[in-house]
Amino acid sequence: MANNAISQRDMAVVWHPCTQMKDHETFPIIPIARGEGVYLEDFEGNRTIDAISSWWVNLFGHANGYINSKIKEQLEKLEHVILAGFTHEGIVRLSERLVALAPQGLSRCFYADNGSSAIEVALKMSYHAHKNLGEDRRIFVSLSNSYHGETLGALSVGDVALYKETYSPLLIHSLQTPVPENQSLEAAHKALEAYRLLLQERGTEIAALIVEPLVQGAGGMGMYHPYFLTHAKALSTQYGVHFIADEIMVGFGRTGSMFACEQAKITPDFLILSKGLTGGYLPLSVVLTGEAIYQTFYCDYDPYRSFLHSHSYTGNALACAAANATLDLFEAHNTIESNRLLARCMGEELQRFQLRLGVKEIRQCGMIGVIELHESDPKARLGVSIHRYCLERGVLIRPLGAVIYVMPPYVMTPNELTMVFDAIESALNHHGL
Ligand SMILES: *Cc1c(COP(=O)(O)O)cnc(C)c1O
Repeated sequence: MANNAISQRDMAVVWHPCTQMKDHETFPIIPIARGEGVYLEDFEGNRTIDAISSWWVNLFGHANGYINSKIKEQLEKLEHVILAGFTHEGIVRLSERLVALAPQGLSRCFYADNGSSAIEVALKMSYHAHKNLGEDRRIFVSLSNSYHGETLGALSVGDVALYKETYSPLLIHSLQTPVPENQSLEAAHKALEAYRLLLQERGTEIAALIVEPLVQGAGGMGMYHPYFLTHAKALSTQYGVHFIADEIMVGFGRTGSMFACEQAKITPDFLILSKGLTGGYLPLSVVLTGEAIYQTFYCDYDPYRSFLHSHSYTGNALACAAANATLDLFEAHNTIESNRLLARCMGEELQRFQLRLGVKEIRQCGMIGVIELHESDPKARLGVSIHRYCLERGVLIRPLGAVIYVMPPYVMTPNELTMVFDAIESALNHHGL
């Protein structure tokens, strides 16, 4: 089968995410026939290195033999069961493991089936928990430039104009407080001061502060010091404001620890996980919270004090099997430890971009490496051009505007990582950067 035949059929019936479809009149959609480790292979046998873990979800490679076998095993027993009134072994085991891994005090797991839905769950739970205690706190605060997903509630607490502006008349009201400008302690102090002032003014009206701990993903891979998290959590608690940690991207080892919150030594009131949760296999998300919030809902039946939220595929058994298999791999390979070597390689590779005129800044947090370019004219779509250049050379990256980032599956070898950065370097040369 040829690539062309499939991409033409695709263009007739599929509407792709986050895409101006007309772009694909000149640059065809790439059909993928199979995956193997860090490689994606099209129908003509061309291989591409997936340097962004297929939108940040894949941890242990494509078509991972072990995860495959665990899903097949589950498939023979149970594919799915309604999670109201029923349970299954996989979800119990997964919940026990997540509670054991998560920061101390997070003891309850509420499931959904994608990241944005889990954000909705946390926002609703936060508002509702306050209400159960007799408080009407309606305002959510997020950090400037944050991204929390694309459903209306999640979009409301995001702050990326590109995704948000068009829909702004439809969104719920939220406030933004400045994110630390960089990874320095000074920047953290400055941002904390702004948050402190906001709390002094409106603390009693605020339900929760929601943050992407340590690295802001879709907003441009901005990074900041854990000190900010430690103290933003303490300030929030002082004002009775919930602290929601959206670790959908940074969870499961991305920043160098299992969860980013560990580096700030905090227990958030809500911890949200998805993306890497199933190793990039199946849609699943979870909101962890503690007994204090759980108990505000726990009572003799009262519809107004129960959390009447559900999704059809909540806690899907195949997805839980993939998640348990993923956690098995973390244990078997001591992944957090072994990632340190690959992270060090990434740090060394980034150095070669340090002194280039076209580069504004390089930065890194664990397994996320960033080369931010100077951008004179956003309409020139420099990122798109670099993306295409690298694709033609067998490397998949997907810059966010002028922000080039590498977020590899953890099974990438140092050699393959060098190939990725070679492609980026060659792209910068080609573009005169
Ligand atoms: C991807 C992402 C989301 C949204 O998750 P979806 O599964 O795409 O809905 C929310 N927050 C962060 C930080 C993300 O990276």
